[in-house]
Amino acid sequence: MHFLVQTKPYPDEALESYLLRLASDNSYDGYSELADILWQWLVEQDHELEGALPLELSKVDVYHARQASSFRIRALKLLAQLADVNAGNILALAWRRSNFKFGNLAAVSRNELTIPLELLRTDNIPVCIECLFESSYVPFYWHLKPYKTCHKHKTQLTTHCGECHELIDYRASEAFLECGCGCKLTSSEQLNDADFKIASALASSSSQKIVGLISWFAKVKQIDVSDLDFNRTFVEYFSTWPESLTAELNLLTNNARLKQLNPFNKTKFNSVYGNVNCDAQIAATSNRKNKVLDEIINYFVELVDSNPKAKHPNIADLVLCTFDAAVLLNTTTEQVYRLHQEGFLTCAYPQKKHEQLRADSHVFYLRQVIELQQAFAAEKPQTKKQFIAPW
Ligand SMILES: [Zn+2]
Ligand SMILES: [Zn+2]
Repeated sequence: MHFLVQTKPYPDEALESYLLRLASDNSYDGYSELADILWQWLVEQDHELEGALPLELSKVDVYHARQASSFRIRALKLLAQLADVNAGNILALAWRRSNFKFGNLAAVSRNELTIPLELLRTDNIPVCIECLFESSYVPFYWHLKPYKTCHKHKTQLTTHCGECHELIDYRASEAFLECGCGCKLTSSEQLNDADFKIASALASSSSQKIVGLISWFAKVKQIDVSDLDFNRTFVEYFSTWPESLTAELNLLTNNARLKQLNPFNKTKFNSVYGNVNCDAQIAATSNRKNKVLDEIINYFVELVDSNPKAKHPNIADLVLCTFDAAVLLNTTTEQVYRLHQEGFLTCAYPQKKHEQLRADSHVFYLRQVIELQQAFAAEKPQTKKQFIAPW
């Protein structure tokens, strides 16, 4: 078996788009017919590959395959042979699961870009009709939820069919310019400036800097990235960065002072600031920079400075759990235990002999953690710090 027409992938093309073009260039009736024929052929080559390429275009990307992802890769390599294309060029189009995590969010990577998996669109892919007229393929960034405007044509992507008003998805209709109902797609929406700014950033080489921030913002503000207003709210918030964050933290600090019930050295950090540290981890970039966490640390450094240790406990004497201490120290919970054992961090209550500290028990003073953090502030860039050496 061999394809007569050798369809070449565009470097920024989505894998689904390429497979669809490969099928139609070779006169198949869409991807599903091609997949049906390939299914049998793949089994003949290698019995392990039964079902390695799904019949549905929307399930074809490598990250969907989970445990079977190595078979999916093997199947795509064979497909590349049939198409007479370098396998690396096809595999480069796929999103694959990454070991990196944005806080507790799973990540996928494609070439140099690592994003939170939740930013990939699942049930619809909007399109730029002008782009499709120029070259008939779908670039990968149309699959990103925050990408809503074409950065080349300054027009909103078309999201709905003008006839049946359903969300459009070329993977379901198996056609770039047609809805599943068979109608031609048209564009009409008004340009949104914030959408244009975000789209330009996502299509640029600095997209890595923004994807974690987008997921972080969606989490802490409880707004869906797909909401019409998401990008505008996001751009507004970061136009006054970091004051926007500082103001929110100040509000929490003042509320804690007003509503104080227990002495601050017996008050849990989480009861005042919630999950601010844990959530901030989502804002990471894959090269481990985190501008949200940096600002949070700056904030608490100032808080500790402006509330020196005194006879009466103050807001800087709150107690942290091991997990939050690890986030502020940019290290692991194991390292925090070690710092405790070696006497760098004291426990807020007297421990029983052989008592194990639990990650969720609030035992470390914010003041001490921040002072220790400052002691290592010179160690930039922020990689996971090893506190063992040089002592
Ligand atoms: Zn366009
Ligand atoms: Zn339709």
